[in-house]
Parts: sequence; C-alpha cells; structure tokens
Amino acid sequence: MSDTAQSILETVRRVVGDRDGFVPLHEPEFAGNEAAYVADCIETGWVSSVGAYVDRFEKDLAAFTGVGHAVATMNGTAALHIALLLAGVKPGDEVLMPTLTFVATANATAYAGATPHFVDSESETLAVDPIALERHLAATCEMRGDQCYNRQSDARIGALIVMHAFGHPAKLDELVALCARWHIPLVEDAAESLGSSYKGKHTGQFGLIAALSFNGNKVMTTGGGGAILTNDPVLAKRAKHLTTTARVPHRWNFVHDEIGFNYRLPNLNAALGCAQLERVPEMLARKRVLAQRYEEAFAQLDGLRFLSEPQDASSNYWLCTLLLDRADVVVHEQVLEALNDADLMARPVWTLMHRLTMFANSPRADLACAEDLAARIINIPSSPNLVGPPGSGQ
Ligand SMILES: *Cc1c(COP(=O)(O)O)cnc(C)c1O
Repeated sequence: MSDTAQSILETVRRVVGDRDGFVPLHEPEFAGNEAAYVADCIETGWVSSVGAYVDRFEKDLAAFTGVGHAVATMNGTAALHIALLLAGVKPGDEVLMPTLTFVATANATAYAGATPHFVDSESETLAVDPIALERHLAATCEMRGDQCYNRQSDARIGALIVMHAFGHPAKLDELVALCARWHIPLVEDAAESLGSSYKGKHTGQFGLIAALSFNGNKVMTTGGGGAILTNDPVLAKRAKHLTTTARVPHRWNFVHDEIGFNYRLPNLNAALGCAQLERVPEMLARKRVLAQRYEEAFAQLDGLRFLSEPQDASSNYWLCTLLLDRADVVVHEQVLEALNDADLMARPVWTLMHRLTMFANSPRADLACAEDLAARIINIPSSPNLVGPPGSGQ
C-alpha cells in the first residue's frame, strides 16, 4: 500500500471511529415518524397513487425548498424527464450537460428524444464551468432568431442541465446569466442537493424547473422517489397532469387529453417522505459535523484536500469528497482499494458520460478538466450516523 493510501485510510478511520462491519457510503436513517406514517397508509388502505401524504409531501417540499410548487414522482429520473419536456426540449434538440454526472441526466435527455451535448466541469464546485461553456458556445453555436443552434450539427440547443455534484451548488449566478444571453432554458438536476443553497436561496430556485431524487442513498429517501420543482404555476400544473396519465378530472369518466406518464409517487412512499423531511434539518446538521471533522483531519495531509463548500454557498455535503492534487490513476486505485479492503466504502466518480458506449458519439466540448477530476475524486463514507445517533449533532 502506498503512503498516500495508508494515511488516507488512517485518517478516515480516525474520523469515523471503530465500527463493526461494512461502513456504506450513505445509508438511510429512520428515527422519527416513518413507521407510524407508513402504518397509517396500510391501516387506511391508502397505499397507492393518490392519498393525503402525497399532497402533504408536495406542500412540505415546496415549503422546505422555498420553491413555489413541488410535484412528487416515482423517481428522480422521471422528474428530470418531465422537467425537460416542460422546458420545451423537443426530439432532435441537443441538451447541454456536464459529462461528470450520474447517467440519469443523460438518460432523461434521451427519453425526450434529444441528444446529450457534454460540457466541462470546474474543480471548485465540480459542476459545469461557466467560462469554458461560454467559450464553447461562442466557438460552436449561433443565434438564429431567439434560439441557439449548434452550427456543426444544425440542432437546436434545447436546454442546459446544471447538476449540483455531491450537493455542492454550481456557480449559479454565472450560469443563469449565460443562459439568459444565449436564450437557453436552465434545468437544475438538484437530485443530490436537497438542503443546499446558493446565496441564501435553495438550489432548484434558479432554473426554469428542477428535479430532486429520494433514492435510498440520497440525503433523505422515500424508498424510490423524486420531485419536480418550479416557481411557474402553469408548469407545475402541467407537471402534475403529465405525471398522472394526463387524465381530465372527472368523478367517473376516464378521459385523457394527451399521452401522459404514470410517474406519480405512491402514497406509501410519500408517507415515508413526510417523516424523513421532518428530520432533514437534523440529519444535515450531523452531516455538517462529519464534513468539518474530515476537513480538519485531512488538512494535515499533503497531496490532497477535502472538498469544502464553494464560496457563497451552503452544501448539504451529500457525499464527502477527497480530491487528489494530481490525477494519478495508480494512487487513485490504491486509495479505493485500501478503503474498501478495510470495509470503509469509497467510490470514484461515475464513469464520465462521453465514455459510456451509448453516448460515445454525442457532441461534446473539450472535457479536459472533467477527465482530470475523474482520476482525482474519491467519495468517502458520509452517513449522518457516523457522527452519532439522531440529535447528537446539534
Ligand atoms: C440520484 C440522481 C438522479 C435521479 O436518480 P433516481 O435514482 O432516478 O431517483 C439524477 N441525477 C443525479 C445527478 C443523481 O445523483
């Protein structure tokens, strides 16, 4: 084992303390009203596609995020799919997005009949680099009327998806201004950033529309689930309609006025969500303590740094991240091996999207920074219970 791998292993061990068995990257925690609310669904029979918990969860999410409207969905990918349709993405369009993202961002684009167009990230936030993107647009795109087109492919640029990687908010001021200049709708993939804010505003408030995920490994979970967020009441109404089979409300007739989707979140899952959301502030507080402990401990080590929240932003620290100073595939692999061998789960970033076979021929900008980051990023155990039982972080 290399010295770097050895000292990273010792440092992670010191922060998380002695633990029996495997320490996952992020595990769910049910310590509040979860069982009571789920039991209530079973006792009343309201387990499926409508119910009071769905309505409550949507209201609670809107209140928590400060976004006007939330529409719950069966997962985050479905939320992204509908968000793209509502942003006006059409078959044949290209959608700008980071290559450094989870596959759902690119898949949702393909479901909308559009092509991902990969752009570079920067190393402060790990999100889309606004300066590199502006340069890329100037070199490859042009305005035709009030729409942006890729001159090489002749495709319209339908949207930019910004993804807040591991919960760290992207450089939103710059990206919002860039989208306004180029008339590109901004969609936020906020799947990882529940509880993260930029200049005092929760992520998901900056784009035309945003998507959240409540998969089991996220900050909070509904088992599987997601939500569409928007301040636009018309889009919110369309989101609800499209995710609920586009049924025209009527007491007994089943009329559908377009091809909709069965993307709604069951009441059973929403019940879990209501209970989890009650506990999000407390879980985030413990995750911040964990991040602080890692940051202090890793400040002593050379050759890497702990990724702390960007300036002007507050991060939920969904996944704690180490960044090697230099891309080094050998050291990177040794660190992953050392931690996983010691039952401390560690992961590299996802395989970059342009390296996946189904997106290998997609248009792309220069992706040098994302390539560099892929050989430097290591995610380390990030669950709130690594600080202590519920309540111990405040
Ligand atoms: C988790 C996640 C999603 C949504 O995933 P689901 O499993 O469909 O809920 C989308 N984008 C990113 C970046 C994610 O991390």
